[in-house]
Amino acid sequence: MIAKGNVRIGLEWRFGPEWPGQRCGAKTRSGSPCQRPANKQKGRCRLHGGASTGPKTNEGKAIIAKSNIKHGRYTKDKLAQRKKEAMIAKELWARRKMIELRLHYAGIID
Ligand SMILES: [Zn+2]
Repeated sequence: MIAKGNVRIGLEWRFGPEWPGQRCGAKTRSGSPCQRPANKQKGRCRLHGGASTGPKTNEGKAIIAKSNIKHGRYTKDKLAQRKKEAMIAKELWARRKMIELRLHYAGIID
């Protein structure tokens, strides 16, 4: 607990001023070095470049893209396929209409 005047605030931060671990050290907006604990691999805290910024390789990007697809109804492939099918259906409808008209003028159907 921290006492501020006659008010006690929250729990004490685990990485207080006596914490012996590596600090981030990035320059903050106030100009002082960042005091947050650093990420082991990157040497900076999560606010200063220590957090993941996503996959970099094409392989990793493909994995993420695949995991983000729910049903694939709106993927480029599926949309193009449906458009093609709609065009075929329209063409068939027009041909059927032409045949109907010809039969109508020939007097075969009403
Ligand atoms: Zn930092």
